[in-house]
Amino acid sequence: MNVLADARDLAAEGPVCDACLGRAVADRSHGLTNADRGRSLRIAAALDDDEPYEPTDTADCWVCEGLCDEFDAWADRCAAAVEDVEFDTYQVGTRTPPLIEENERLLRAAAGLDPDAGEVFKSEFNREVGKRIGPLTDTTVDFGRPDVQFTLDVDADTVEVDVHSAFVYGRYRKLERDIPQTEWPCNACDRSGYVGSQPCGNCGGTGYLYEHSVEELTAPVVRDVMDGTDATFHGAGREDVDARMVGTGRPFVIEVLEPRRRNIDTDRLEGDINAFAEGRVEVDRLGLATYDAVERVKGLDASKRYRAEVAFDGPVDDDELAAALDALDGATVEQYTPHRVDHRRASITRTREVYDATGERDDPTHATVEIHGAGGLYVKELVSGDEGRTDPNLAGTLGVAAEVTALDVIGVYGEDEPFEDPAYFREAAPDPPGVASDPVDGSGGEGDSDASAE
Ligand SMILES: [Zn+2]
Ligand SMILES: [Zn+2]
Repeated sequence: MNVLADARDLAAEGPVCDACLGRAVADRSHGLTNADRGRSLRIAAALDDDEPYEPTDTADCWVCEGLCDEFDAWADRCAAAVEDVEFDTYQVGTRTPPLIEENERLLRAAAGLDPDAGEVFKSEFNREVGKRIGPLTDTTVDFGRPDVQFTLDVDADTVEVDVHSAFVYGRYRKLERDIPQTEWPCNACDRSGYVGSQPCGNCGGTGYLYEHSVEELTAPVVRDVMDGTDATFHGAGREDVDARMVGTGRPFVIEVLEPRRRNIDTDRLEGDINAFAEGRVEVDRLGLATYDAVERVKGLDASKRYRAEVAFDGPVDDDELAAALDALDGATVEQYTPHRVDHRRASITRTREVYDATGERDDPTHATVEIHGAGGLYVKELVSGDEGRTDPNLAGTLGVAAEVTALDVIGVYGEDEPFEDPAYFREAAPDPPGVASDPVDGSGGEGDSDASAE
């Protein structure tokens, strides 16, 4: 095969622009645009034949019908479409008109080439428009997960823009009880607030079972600062509604849909959220995260450290409590699905490790205990025994009925690696908290610097 002969055959079909000519032999050489290839072949053929060189006007091209002259115009339109959107990366896709695809096949067939020889129109259009957008917007192409996706619909003569979500990682503390992590709609009225024409008695006509949620106290602030259309809260598990989340907090990611701003100041955002939540919830360790941080936060195996207020049915002395906690320290516990857990869930016996168990008596019938356990350990049942469904348990070991009267989660830690892995951040990652071994106060202080091996 001779590329010059091919070029003559391709050009013989009618006026073909340099780009369409070059595109049919796009697999030849590199560091050239298809227009470079086409023009060079035309010049080489003219020299070879010793004929005058005759450039072809792109507007006359029967293959692309002049579209190869419009790269600049489409790039300008893309840039204009995102004038008020902040982004760092983008990608371009093109919907090729079927007529152009057919012309491409006809051109190659006429020259006796493979129907898919060289490169398809769509690839050239994506690349040529794409490389012009970067300098216009001071951004770069990203073939993975760009901030902005442009779709050029040539037939419809439109530029569609998808602004992909932005993500903020952080840790939250829930300083008041009876706040669910996410909004809890009322089932009785299907969140409408009404049963028939009457206000719903179950939720007081609000449609929700709780006035506040961690989501509602945090996500709207991030949505507003990033100027998005909506925001979704993704937590690394969740504590019971009646448990506080204190100490070093629980990891979360807030996803903001269609943000117009994404490189925001996370220190300021932290202050904004904490002011908005009015002491019910606090956040820290905020960082701009990547889209896969959501899956990471939801999926990473995590251990939890709890502090529980425990009431005993009879007096317990210091030595008995210390011995019982010693017996649990390092124990492997079998737990049959607790009574209080959703009965639609399959009941199974599962095995969980207790990494650490310590505590002190407050008076003969009350104690404060701290338990560090593997993810999924039911701590209320570890204390009460749940009528024998959790074994071993604190009540059984003491020989006295015991019940958790108040529960705080004081730390959530990745089992094998910290949540704050730099690979999931768009900027410097926040420092991971250490595994706090000291008692942590409930005021949200930084009781997290004291790392200890488990
Ligand atoms: Zn053309
Ligand atoms: Zn209701």
